[in-house]
Amino acid sequence: MPVFEPVIGLEIHSQLKTATKMFCSCPITPGAEPNTHICEVCTGQPGALPRLNARAVELAVRAGLALGAQVSEISVFARKNYFYPDLPNGFQNSQLDPPICRGGGLDLPDYGRHIRLNRIHLEDDAGKCLHDEQRGQTLVDLNRAGAPLIEIVTEPDFRSAGEVMDFLKKLHAILVQLEVTAGRLEEGEFRCDVNVSLRPRGAEALGRRSEIKNLNSFRHVGQAIEYEIVRQGGLLERGEKIEQETRLFDPARQETRTLRGKEEAHDYRYFPQPDLPPVLVPPALLARIKAEMPPLPEAVMAELLSLGLTAEQATLLLERRGALEYFKAALTFLDDPKRLATLMVELLLPAAQKENIPPLDCACGPEVLAALARLLAEEALGRRAAYDLFPELFARGGDPEALARDRGVFQISETGALEALARELIAAHPEEARRYREGQDKLLSFFVGRLMRQSRGAANPKLAGEILARLLKT
Ligand code: ADP
Ligand code: MG
Ligand code: ZN
Repeated sequence: MPVFEPVIGLEIHSQLKTATKMFCSCPITPGAEPNTHICEVCTGQPGALPRLNARAVELAVRAGLALGAQVSEISVFARKNYFYPDLPNGFQNSQLDPPICRGGGLDLPDYGRHIRLNRIHLEDDAGKCLHDEQRGQTLVDLNRAGAPLIEIVTEPDFRSAGEVMDFLKKLHAILVQLEVTAGRLEEGEFRCDVNVSLRPRGAEALGRRSEIKNLNSFRHVGQAIEYEIVRQGGLLERGEKIEQETRLFDPARQETRTLRGKEEAHDYRYFPQPDLPPVLVPPALLARIKAEMPPLPEAVMAELLSLGLTAEQATLLLERRGALEYFKAALTFLDDPKRLATLMVELLLPAAQKENIPPLDCACGPEVLAALARLLAEEALGRRAAYDLFPELFARGGDPEALARDRGVFQISETGALEALARELIAAHPEEARRYREGQDKLLSFFVGRLMRQSRGAANPKLAGEILARLLKT
């Protein structure tokens, strides 16, 4: 039994899903040419005045409501001062006291734990420094400067890496489902700082912590925590002190490294931001935001299960980006949720992921998949024929019925055609036919298999079985 207990708290930054930046009308465009979406406000020109994006406020409130937080009717912006080349103002617009939301939390049933939130506040993002090692230069891109963020701060309620990862996945799913954030980890739209300390088991007081900055992968969060627990445990066992410091995780070497120590700790000299009026969320606005809230992931999950989807199908539709929208669109063309979900999970989503295309942008749109599902439901197509047609539909879209006709793969359900095939088969295999008549029932599947092969999968297998059984008996 280890002597020390890990204590972990998180600060999560999530970029809000707005069209424009927090205090100006520059668009948010990840991947754009550097410094093409900037103006006098987000580059901190003297005299330029910020104007708060109302949508950012609504999305922060939405997050707070979903997490059971208390929404402040009045909150204020503060200047958080520090110097860095990607921060043209010389300060970040943030909130100290009061923040837009306080309290709230999230249950982790798998761990029997409730994680309390301390606060959610609004802030704007900095730009990006691009280090060109070869030329020995650092270039600054301010496209991201002024992008709207919420920071969610938890209490130090986690005791293991597993709990933290479970929490982050749940939180991410909620924020994405509510369209608070696009949540693309690789774009840094959901990233977190992890505070880790150890204390003797049973102790009340918290130990001294290190903070690992800017992790944007759930796996790296887990790895960084495991590493820190071992590192700090080693120091404490040797009787050495933990420094309060900021560290970075290096995924290649699977270790954390000092970024800055306590002596360089920031004094942000927070003071009220005189250029921004208080943020107001009066009861009428709060009521409207509540009324406009999309359902939470748990509610969507319950709805999908009630439509007859399996838990695996529902989970995949919830987790895969754009899948749920595609599914809903397909349902408007064909009210057959189970069949549509199966086709999505087995055909469309794997193909879309392989080609890295958002589901709704696929040539095989929801109406195409619904048409394919309908042919299957009507037994005009067999499963195998449908799956054979799919790559063509995925590549070019089009009308599945026309394609099936073109390929001559419509399912043979006419009794006459099947009977002819069955008679031929029976005549060609007199020995097996005799043994079947003598009671070897298993041989029916031999005949059905042959018939399916001879029709190149086009025969309706159920009907074929019935016809063969009847003809074999006579
Ligand atoms: P700061 O703003 O200086 O980073 P805060 O007190 O706001 O400090 O805490 C930031 C995060 O660190 C919170 O998530 C909190 O739960 C966590 N935290 C604070 N003290 C500890 C500790 N001793 N061990 C682990 N986590 C801690
Ligand atoms: Mg911190
Ligand atoms: Zn701007």
